[in-house]
Amino acid sequence: MNDSVLLANYNRAPINIVRGEGCYLYDDQERKYLDFIAGIAVCALGHCHPWISAAISEQARKLVHASNLYYHEPAGTLAKELVARSGFFCNSGTEANEAAIKLARKRAFRKGETERITILACTGSFHGRTYGALAATDNDKYKEGFGPMPAGFAFTPFNDMSALDKNLDDKVAAFIVEPVQGESGVHPATVEFLAMARHLCDKRGALLIFDEIQCGMGRLGPLFAFQRFGITPDVVTMAKALANGLPIGAMLVAECAIDALQPGDHGTTFGGSPVPCAAGLAHLRVRDAIDLEAYVRIREVQFMARLADLAIAFPNVIAGLRGMGLLCALPINQKYPVGEVVAALREQGLLVGSAGGNSLRFAPPLVLGEEQIDEAYDALYEVFSHIDERVSAVVA
Ligand code: PLP
Repeated sequence: MNDSVLLANYNRAPINIVRGEGCYLYDDQERKYLDFIAGIAVCALGHCHPWISAAISEQARKLVHASNLYYHEPAGTLAKELVARSGFFCNSGTEANEAAIKLARKRAFRKGETERITILACTGSFHGRTYGALAATDNDKYKEGFGPMPAGFAFTPFNDMSALDKNLDDKVAAFIVEPVQGESGVHPATVEFLAMARHLCDKRGALLIFDEIQCGMGRLGPLFAFQRFGITPDVVTMAKALANGLPIGAMLVAECAIDALQPGDHGTTFGGSPVPCAAGLAHLRVRDAIDLEAYVRIREVQFMARLADLAIAFPNVIAGLRGMGLLCALPINQKYPVGEVVAALREQGLLVGSAGGNSLRFAPPLVLGEEQIDEAYDALYEVFSHIDERVSAVVA
């Protein structure tokens, strides 16, 4: 399986995926898998959506690359349609967060506030693997052996309002937060916490950055996660689902910070290339055409109800239920390593992810139907029944 040529930096499952269609993936043995992780929240419209594939091939025949020395239509239109704010495009989530961190510091610098350098992040956060984003990530496992980390990063407990009041001081250039933490095990922020963050950033002169890389692009229903909470940040970072499978990242910036980055301050060769931007535009068109926001709200209720049924049916295996929109997690009894549950589900033909706290993570394509929810439920029921027998046997 190419193990001799690929670096061992991923724990890959022993299957070779050759094709994707809608909510399903197929391996080289023509085995069909129901995909409830969608490339870790990437293929929001499912695999090889015809509108996306058509937009990619049409754009690929017209213009693939021109560099950021010039304007081109797909990037300009995508930025305009994402929101009436200024957009910067890059190639991944971690790059979008690097851009946001640099923007925050440069904004303070331009205002003569040279001591305002702290990037305040939350406990349990994940913002990416490059050095700035990694420094803002609260997971020692990802940092071990890569030190020293860049200076000027600090952490405040997630969802703790009084700690935030203490830690968000006048040295803070930006407070960065995921409205729903994904990697730590799917933990939604409280509305009160985000409202407090908005209030404190305004009062103390810091930028409020929402990392919507995993929870944005419709995963919570509306296009932006912040719309679900009703709290508007100064900067939004996006990636993953934006082009439904092609590499792209974006940083959207409000009026108060649009002048922070001047020509030459920041850039990337492939950022905002025509083909991924055309795919991003097609993604927005599909969302509007099928009213994906309303659709996700219905599927959220249905899927959460089935997960709640499972949590009630298997209290020995499942230790709760968390989530918002179609980003959900079932924490699994610590006695049973989540990697083994993921493997057992794969054997049943269901692909899911794992996340912190020994949790199963679900981020299915947003276009899934009720029959896919039933199919996933059946696979989960089957595997949990088997685990339950084992846990009971251990307890007995
Ligand atoms: N931020 C969040 C919330 C993420 O979930 C991720 C990836 O999982 C990233 C940043 C990094 O994105 P990328 O892997 O595209 O660099």
